[in-house]
Amino acid sequence: MKMKGYAMLGIGKTGWIEKEIPACGPLDAIVKPIAVSPCTSDVHTVWEGAIGDRKDMILGHEAVGEIVEVGALVKDLKVGDKVIVPAITPDWGSLEAQGGYSMHSGGMLAGWKFSNFKDGVFAEYFHVNEADANLARLPEGIDPASAVMLSDMVPTGFHGAELAGVEYGDSVCVIGIGPVGLMSVAAASLKGAGRLFAVGSRPNCVEAAKAYGATDIINYKNGDIVAQIMDLTGGKGVDKVIVAGGDNDTFIQAITMLKPGGRIGNVNYLGSGDYVRVPRIEWGCGMGHKTIAGGLMPGGRLRMEKLVSLMQYGRLDTSRLLTHRFKGFEHMEEALMLMKDKPKDLIKPVVVL
Ligand code: NDP
Ligand code: ZN
Repeated sequence: MKMKGYAMLGIGKTGWIEKEIPACGPLDAIVKPIAVSPCTSDVHTVWEGAIGDRKDMILGHEAVGEIVEVGALVKDLKVGDKVIVPAITPDWGSLEAQGGYSMHSGGMLAGWKFSNFKDGVFAEYFHVNEADANLARLPEGIDPASAVMLSDMVPTGFHGAELAGVEYGDSVCVIGIGPVGLMSVAAASLKGAGRLFAVGSRPNCVEAAKAYGATDIINYKNGDIVAQIMDLTGGKGVDKVIVAGGDNDTFIQAITMLKPGGRIGNVNYLGSGDYVRVPRIEWGCGMGHKTIAGGLMPGGRLRMEKLVSLMQYGRLDTSRLLTHRFKGFEHMEEALMLMKDKPKDLIKPVVVL
């Protein structure tokens, strides 16, 4: 049986295609989406060719859906269950997962399957490997559109704060306050950051950053962000930096604004260029104890269950990320183009089906 999906046809080209409905393995599930959201990563993939060419690959890795089929060995989930689908769906038996890096199960970044080397979620149906380990039930009372932010924006943004090792009272700078960076602001705030700088320019994002806990806003369009941070900190800099926007040269700024002993947590997807440069003097001539950690978000059920509990118990409200809501798959292209063009009033679009 055939289904429709919105696909990358080649670098720079997207459109609707028809494919076979995916088959369900014994540990797997087939899911019908209820709400999906396009991601800046889809834009890197299609228009920058960041992971190389892909032909007729269905896009999308952010979804909440309903299970329509489960494999014979699936224990905890059944047909009709509503589930949150993480963007990263590791192979939990792999050695990388056993080593604590499930997102790299099977090779670097290979826990990222949807819209990378397997069809994604912008389709009438999609396949989820290891359903018991990779899907979390959507709790009653949580809006599916808000819950889609748990697929990627929340776990990625929160991972930025984990990678930076934010501790009580730290001064933190979050560079980039699109939906990912906003969730880094929320995470740094929950982890107890003291002074919390947020770097961005879109007015909606700035307002959201304040609501999520930013104490100071830095507009990178108003001059060098390092100079602005140094000015505001009496020349000392910050304890931690989370990078969720900018480009390869943003690392030069992040290292420069960091205090000795500080950590950078990067979740930005560097879509082009060959090298990231480290400034020698500002890195303490190699002796500054300034650590750079960069990582793909962890996926899987346990993390989704923990993160959704933050929404259930009122500690995190993702609904303010949703600036553009659409009804029906016919709006998929419009929603993706918003992510590509980033109009001033955009934080994140969602398509409810
Ligand atoms: P957005 O494009 O919405 O946000 C980027 C932010 O960076 C904006 O606030 C933007 O400011 C700001 N910015 C742009 N240029 C600069 C600059 N030169 N200096 C400082 N800030 C700048 O992206 P998303 O929030 O959707 O995603 C952020 C990144 O995270 C993307 O690269 C995405 O692919 C990646 N990602 C990584 C994942 C992971 O697992 N590691 C998963 C998902 C996404 P302005 O307000 O002007 O727009
Ligand atoms: Zn994404």
